Amino acid sequence: MKTMKALVKSRPEPGIWLEEVPIPECGPNDALIRIVKTAICGTDIHIFNWDKWSQKTIPVPMVVGHEFAGVVEKVGPEVRGLAPGDRVSAEGHITCGHCRNCRAGKRHLCRNTVGVGVNRPGCFAEYLCVPAGNVFKLSEAITDDLGAILDPLGNAAHTALSFDLVGEDVLITGAGPIGMMAAAICRFAGARHVVITDVNDYRLGLAAKLGATRTVNVTGERLETVMEELGMTEGFDVGLEMSGNPAAFRELLERMNYGGKLALLGIFAEETPIDWTKVVFKGLLLKGIYGREMFETWYKIAAMLQSGLDVSAAITHRFHVAEYLDGFEVMRSGQSGKVILDWS
Ligand code: NAD
Ligand code: ZN
Repeated sequence: MKTMKALVKSRPEPGIWLEEVPIPECGPNDALIRIVKTAICGTDIHIFNWDKWSQKTIPVPMVVGHEFAGVVEKVGPEVRGLAPGDRVSAEGHITCGHCRNCRAGKRHLCRNTVGVGVNRPGCFAEYLCVPAGNVFKLSEAITDDLGAILDPLGNAAHTALSFDLVGEDVLITGAGPIGMMAAAICRFAGARHVVITDVNDYRLGLAAKLGATRTVNVTGERLETVMEELGMTEGFDVGLEMSGNPAAFRELLERMNYGGKLALLGIFAEETPIDWTKVVFKGLLLKGIYGREMFETWYKIAAMLQSGLDVSAAITHRFHVAEYLDGFEVMRSGQSGKVILDWS
């Protein structure tokens, strides 16, 4: 049996290990992809740390990772529109195809989604096998590094583009990799003020580079004061929750204008009480976001990158896969944007 190198969650304890595993079999509707670059996601850190969520969710052993760019090595006999040599990334949510939403073309709302690198073998490996329908071809405008972060960039785009942004004032809570890229998208899409909060100055600095018009470290500065300084007399029109922090979410509700619209991406670690009268009396609209719209978000991003959206500053560290532990460490420290691992 032919084998490959892969980063495997092979034991139910903290850590991820570089091991030799079999190269996956390519089924009739699948594409086998040779991995070139991967990026580390917050999910991979949860799996590394072996927190409560991972213990419940991840069967061991499991090859982890879902953010990548690569080259098609082989396609199954039923596959059309994809050929060996194509540069690609892929949607990491594999949907069932038979539920109501899948059949209606709303695959991001599939009730039976399976996650690459979570419920089935992932891309932190020399080869990945996924259904060919999940593969997305990369244009020349998209470098391998950018190809490797299309998944989180897609989370940012799906959230940010949920509502009209032209001439609007946007508040983003959480300047993690996704929040900082959302700031870039909001500016690109024509928002007026793009205010972003965090408790981490390093990340706020990156958000400013990416296009946030005002960064706020909530440990030292009050949003109310910032709004006054900006000449804002009412409230934010659009809110993007990207921190998963309950206090940040409550502040976001507080600072929204009447009739404001909120998209919620951040995942709260526990049940999060809010003052629902804020939602009711202000007539707020709340939308939950999971993953990317298949495949509208992918096409939007590809087109935006081709027409001048620049998120390259979100990538702060690059390592060869042999140094993957350093990559995980810097990601765990919070002193990073996206961290790329090179498999070539
Ligand atoms: P991240 O954890 O790197 O970023 C969250 C940021 O929020 C951090 O920089 C942190 O310092 C900041 N933060 C903490 N407390 C804060 C506060 N009180 N006010 C403002 N900011 C605060 O995560 P990420 O990869 O950028 O993802 C953003 C969120 O989206 C996370 O909660 C993640 O779990 C979630 N997520 C959801 C989906 C989905 O499909 N719904 C997909 C990917 C990620
Ligand atoms: Zn489905």
